[in-house]
Amino acid sequence: MSEACLFCRLRDRKLPVEVVYEDEEVLGFKDINPKAPVHILVIPKEHFTSLNEVPAGKESLLGHMLRVATKIGQEKGLARTGYRIVINTGPDSGQAVFHLHVHLLGGRRLSWPPG
Ligand code: 5GP
Ligand code: ZN
Repeated sequence: MSEACLFCRLRDRKLPVEVVYEDEEVLGFKDINPKAPVHILVIPKEHFTSLNEVPAGKESLLGHMLRVATKIGQEKGLARTGYRIVINTGPDSGQAVFHLHVHLLGGRRLSWPPG
């Protein structure tokens, strides 16, 4: 899954992307349509359609995604004011891009519960 997947294409730099973090396992980049002053997406470089498709044995990758999102939030000064980390999964969540991604949102007061 590479040619058809938007985030695989971003990973491969086939489309413009504003990268804020990269290592061997994950890529962090600015959301193209930010829903908050800080809105970063963290994806695994390996393609998974959603959390539903992540097999057992990938726990360290999932943990790494959370750790990277947290570090980006801290670096952007959100540790005190707070932030939200979200993984939309499947139709009821509103997932629109079917390559697993963590949203990091912050820089404004976020309502709860989400709509
Ligand atoms: P989802 O609704 O699947 O959880 O979130 C998908 C996110 O990807 C949305 O926040 C949307 O703004 C973002 N997005 C969609 N297309 C692009 C793109 O081409 N580039 C970037 N950087 N973000 C995108
Ligand atoms: Zn993909």
